[in-house]
Amino acid sequence: MGKPPRKPRPLRPFEDRPLWRCPRCGKRFVTRNIYHSCTRVPLEDHFRGRPLAKAIFMRIDALLRSFGPVRIVSNRTRVGWMVRVRFGGIHPLKDGAWLDLWLSRPLHHPRVAKVREVSPRCHLHSVRLRDPEEVDGEVREMLRRAYAVGCQEHLRERREGSIATPESAG
Ligand SMILES: [Zn+2]
Repeated sequence: MGKPPRKPRPLRPFEDRPLWRCPRCGKRFVTRNIYHSCTRVPLEDHFRGRPLAKAIFMRIDALLRSFGPVRIVSNRTRVGWMVRVRFGGIHPLKDGAWLDLWLSRPLHHPRVAKVREVSPRCHLHSVRLRDPEEVDGEVREMLRRAYAVGCQEHLRERREGSIATPESAG
C-alpha cells in the first residue's frame, strides 16, 4: 500500500508524540534510535534471594497502576517503571530496596536520603525502604509526582506556561 506524500504538519507536543519502539528488543523511547541496551532481563532475576525487595516492588507497582498506565523496564542492572520516560526504579537489596524517583523539582523530605540534580528539570531522589509497609501515604505522594514526570507533565507545564503544580496534574 502506497503512502501519500508527507504533508508538513504542526509540531506535536512532546507528550502526544508516539514513542519509538526498538525493532530489536521492543523497548520504547521518546527519542528515536537512542542508544540503549537491548537486553531484557526477567523480573525474577532482580529479586532472586531478595523476597523483601520483591514485595516492595510489587506494592509500588500496584500503586503506580492505580495512577494510570505504566510499563516495567527491566535491564541488566536495574528494574523500574516508565510511562513516556523512565521515572523511577528499585535497587533490590537483601534487607529491602532503594527506591529511586525522578522529580521535576528537588524534594527535601526526611524520607529522602539523597537528592541529586541530573538536570534542572530532573532531580534523582533516593528513598530507603526496608518493608512493603513503608510504602505509605508519604511515599505514595512522591510516586505520584514521579509518575507525572514519567508522563512528561513538566514539559506540558513549561510549554503552556501554566502554574500547574504536581497536585493539579494528577
Ligand atoms: Zn533495543
